[in-house]
Amino acid sequence: MAVVKRNCIHCGATFDSKNSRGVYCSAACKSQHHRIRKVTERRVVVGRLEVVFRDVNPNTTQEMLEQMVHDALTPEILKVIHSDKPIQLGESHA
Ligand SMILES: [Zn+2]
Repeated sequence: MAVVKRNCIHCGATFDSKNSRGVYCSAACKSQHHRIRKVTERRVVVGRLEVVFRDVNPNTTQEMLEQMVHDALTPEILKVIHSDKPIQLGESHA
């Protein structure tokens, strides 16, 4: 089986990978990288809508993220996510 030289996506160290999908040099790097991902993940919940932001800069406040989500929502989407009826977009109000 071919051994490939790769760079760890967490620490940048070169390592021999027997598995072409290996991206970490060690199990420690893998778990550390996953932990950091979790820390930089933030959620904004608006009604029934949940938005997950990944790799958020620590200086970004929750308020800034909420504002960004609110600015992106149209009145029609707001009505749907705050309604308690089953979600159905493009519904005609006949
Ligand atoms: Zn590493």
